[in-house]
Amino acid sequence: MTRPPWLLRALFPGMLWHGDRNRPEVYLTFDDGPHPDVTPKVLDLLEQYTAKATFFCVGANVQAHPHVFRHIVESGHAVGNHTWSHRSGWGMSRKAYVEEINKTSALVPGPLFRPPYGRIGLGQYYTLRKSYRVVMWDVLSYDWKAERTPERIAADVLKAIRPGSVVVFHDSAKAAPRMMPALELVLKGLKARGLRCVAMTP
Ligand SMILES: [Zn+2]
Repeated sequence: MTRPPWLLRALFPGMLWHGDRNRPEVYLTFDDGPHPDVTPKVLDLLEQYTAKATFFCVGANVQAHPHVFRHIVESGHAVGNHTWSHRSGWGMSRKAYVEEINKTSALVPGPLFRPPYGRIGLGQYYTLRKSYRVVMWDVLSYDWKAERTPERIAADVLKAIRPGSVVVFHDSAKAAPRMMPALELVLKGLKARGLRCVAMTP
């Protein structure tokens, strides 16, 4: 199951699940960084394939690794907000959740926001949508699942992806052993199909 349930889409109008289905472009996204070892490797690989991506950054990680964050921005990729400490919105007050995101926006400029785990309450959403563009996905890579091989991850992503798709990877130490080889296979497959990887524009 790589596609989100239709009910979620209906409950949260205005959330971005995918882009234009009629352009030969896809959006690769990387969550939970910046990571001092993994993120630079992702940037190198993207550059080899002249691919642009969008990085949903955790505020505390940006504070800890500001040079890696600058490297992302200077390489021409887009950045988005992924809360200060990777909090799930479920079970948090609206005020505390919004504070997590506003604190992060001091370091991660722009309106793009992705809720960690995709878990955001309706009240939180209706407050945040006034200032942020909430970005979900239509293809999950499952690169955090230790039992999956990079080949399977890449094959599943390439099967599910279509023009306009938003794909989730993780530039984290946990996902890296699977994500890096899977990413290279995906980049190769997309190139062969003539699908360009572009950064999100808010
Ligand atoms: Zn995350």
